[in-house]
Amino acid sequence: MSTAPRNTALWHPFADMSQVKNDQFCVSKADGVWIYDQAGRRYLDGTASLWYANVGHGRTEIVEAAAAQMRELESYFVFNDFTNPPAEALADRLSQLAPMEGAKIFLTTGGGESIDTAAKLARQYWAQRGQPQRTHILSRGNAYHGTNGMGTSIGGIEANQSGFGQLVPEASRVAHDDAESLREAIDRLGADRVAAFFAEPVMGAGGLYPPEPGYLEAVAKICAEHEILFVADSVICGFGRVGSWFGVERWGLQPDMITFAKGVTSGYLPLGGVVIAERVAEPFWNHPGRPFRHGATYSGHPTVAAAALANIDILEREKLLPRADELERPLHDALRQLADHPAVGEVRGGVGLLGAVELAPDLLAADPGAPTRAQLAIRDFGVIVRPLGKALAVSPPLIISESEIELISKAMWEGLDALA
Ligand code: PLP
Repeated sequence: MSTAPRNTALWHPFADMSQVKNDQFCVSKADGVWIYDQAGRRYLDGTASLWYANVGHGRTEIVEAAAAQMRELESYFVFNDFTNPPAEALADRLSQLAPMEGAKIFLTTGGGESIDTAAKLARQYWAQRGQPQRTHILSRGNAYHGTNGMGTSIGGIEANQSGFGQLVPEASRVAHDDAESLREAIDRLGADRVAAFFAEPVMGAGGLYPPEPGYLEAVAKICAEHEILFVADSVICGFGRVGSWFGVERWGLQPDMITFAKGVTSGYLPLGGVVIAERVAEPFWNHPGRPFRHGATYSGHPTVAAAALANIDILEREKLLPRADELERPLHDALRQLADHPAVGEVRGGVGLLGAVELAPDLLAADPGAPTRAQLAIRDFGVIVRPLGKALAVSPPLIISESEIELISKAMWEGLDALA
């Protein structure tokens, strides 16, 4: 048990504070794939924190790159003609790594801000192209696109939308793995009213659903046929999580925009951004008098950019993208063993270092809180997993070993045993 602080003033995101205020789990140290509570007990970080610690914890190289940058120039804004060397270097590097030739990079401080940026840019792109009525944004049932204004409006998890009053009205959801449902929605609305379609390559927070074979290629084609901007939300899938830089390369896609965050710094400092295909940037970059009036104070923050560059160096030097490919099968096999456990209904994954174990229907019917109870039981066996709807999600750092993957499935088995 951890010696957790009591009576916190810290309001935890998404938490039922009436419960959490007196019962927190305090992480005070981390190294590699391990995190430590305040009593010094270690746990295997089976979720890479919140899907992001791709290079693992405690990398002094990133710490030193950030510290060196802070000594030189800790921060300065990049509005108008201001810039700084790390922000420039990061944008160049990301543009070169991106699957779209000549892509531009808009930097933000996280995933939700990147979604708002991409959605506003999609609408303004159409306004610049003389079609200001193209404002509608399509997305998928069960999708998670963060909790900023646009992300809340286009998200597909209903509980995240209720009680907030009027959200952005020109937004609707299509069935989550059915390309025909996208085509029908476009036909119903009229393509000339639709600005963009947003989709996560592998659906994450909505329960961890890899795409059905051919689905992503089909929706990209439907978008192209109707000139609807296809935005891949790769906030989880990028920077090696599914074995490639921006997630989408695996399916041979070249979206109009890609949102990213998390793994771009492995979480050492907060950063997100949008990769923008040249043709979408064109009206803004080649025609005077058309600024994109959008941005935030810390866009292009040099210390954060220096941390991202150091993180990308590690991903490259240690060949962690091919490593994720190598570990994909061992992780999936280890989780599939759990399908034999009576508490398990379904095992999903097999795409990168992402997996989910959904609990058995009878268990969920008797107690919808079973995934949270299971997570706590598994934590007692020394492994962190994450309850997601009916399932437990696993997304370890890319530096994990095969024997550590086995530790995850063993602790999950033991924790599920303890549920009964
Ligand atoms: N998009 C996706 C697919 C995500 O998984 C998340 C966060 O988990 C976000 C957007 C929002 O990112 P952030 O929490 O950095 O705002």
